[in-house]
Amino acid sequence: MLKHDYMEINSQGHLVIGGCDTVELCAAYGTPLYVMDEDRIRSNMRAYKNSIDKFYSGHGRCLYASKAFSTMYMYRLAGEEGLGVDVVSGGELYTALKAGFDPAKIVFHGNNKSYDEIEMAIKAGVGRLIVDGDGEIEKIDAISKANGVVTNIMIRVKPGVDAHTHEFISTGHIDCKFGFAIENGEAAKFIRHAMTFENVRICGLHCHIGSQIFLFEPFRHTAEIMMNFYVRLKAELGLSLAELNLGGGFGIKYVEGDTPVPFEGYIEAVSDTIKDICSANGIEVPFIYMEPGRSIVGDAGITLYKVGTIKDIANVRKFVSVDGGMADNPRYILYGSEYDAILANRACDEAKEYVTVCGKCCESGDIIIDRCHLPKARSGDILAVMSTGAYNYSMASNYNRIPRPPVVMVSNGQHKLIIKRETYDDIIKNDLL
Ligand SMILES: *Cc1c(COP(=O)(O)O)cnc(C)c1O
Repeated sequence: MLKHDYMEINSQGHLVIGGCDTVELCAAYGTPLYVMDEDRIRSNMRAYKNSIDKFYSGHGRCLYASKAFSTMYMYRLAGEEGLGVDVVSGGELYTALKAGFDPAKIVFHGNNKSYDEIEMAIKAGVGRLIVDGDGEIEKIDAISKANGVVTNIMIRVKPGVDAHTHEFISTGHIDCKFGFAIENGEAAKFIRHAMTFENVRICGLHCHIGSQIFLFEPFRHTAEIMMNFYVRLKAELGLSLAELNLGGGFGIKYVEGDTPVPFEGYIEAVSDTIKDICSANGIEVPFIYMEPGRSIVGDAGITLYKVGTIKDIANVRKFVSVDGGMADNPRYILYGSEYDAILANRACDEAKEYVTVCGKCCESGDIIIDRCHLPKARSGDILAVMSTGAYNYSMASNYNRIPRPPVVMVSNGQHKLIIKRETYDDIIKNDLL
């Protein structure tokens, strides 16, 4: 029965988010429904920005990793808050550009960018391309030459850090598809190669060690490894790099007991590490980028479902079905992720039993919460699943030809639809025969 502190319960016992009664939101928009609190998103964005100002003299930029929740409205919010964004596909780039986002503040990632995506990024004037594999730099150089520009790149490296998170979201170690490893010399070799191209300029290196990380030390250790590598590159290749991208991966609270790393402490520790290594070795303090995705939007979102069929299997378990499932939240079936929920229409009722919250898709693994502590749920109740703002809408599918739910943005008692509900006609719109 987790409820985030920024939410309230009103006199009718209904859960309130952004000043809006969740039961009324369901009546207005139907279920399932994604609801996002705009003020929470903005304050998460500001926390990063303010920490960089406070501990790193503002010599850095927070980039919102937009794959967590990519919609035109989000790019507008990031722009208003002075953040940059990162994108990992032509589709995310297209969305950002359509939202009027400043291309100079866009960073383009991806371990297998297509020729068309690279061309689209260069023609749009994207700020930095993150090079992540052999063959890509030749394409970037050729397309830049053809367009008469020099493209600013950063090179993705694997620092060789174990982030102590789920294997599928751990990206800093050598056995990973992203980047070039430092430990076996391939990063240095690739950088030497990259220095030979005329139409690319190497601004710095990028690393990202994984996601949903709660430990402090892997982040600090990563900064240390990266800066020591900068020192080596200066000595061995005469290469001075003015920028360093430290990636994202900050964990958020999904269930009681999750203890997110406070951004402030993180920035302070990383700043000290970087400054110390720079002054000890006489190199310039780099401009830093951080790329939080989950921690910007994750705890700002909830999903509202209507409870349907309830099956109490004696001595086994009780299934409480909701009118969505793995199509709108595939994270349990992907990673066994944990969530918590609250009965939004009876938020003051005491939790009495443990149930499994399942969806309506044709998969036994279609589970939202394996073990959820709830009051005795009844068909027709509204269930609010917490912390669904990241990697839910952006990972949603039409499995079982289920239309994707809408997204409502709430703030100060006002609500507005930023993504409408898909219709059955949307579902068949690409079926030709
Ligand atoms: C996914 C990703 C991020 C964001 O990760 P979060 O865990 O959502 O903060 C940042 N940088 C890169 C390169 C990523 O792939």
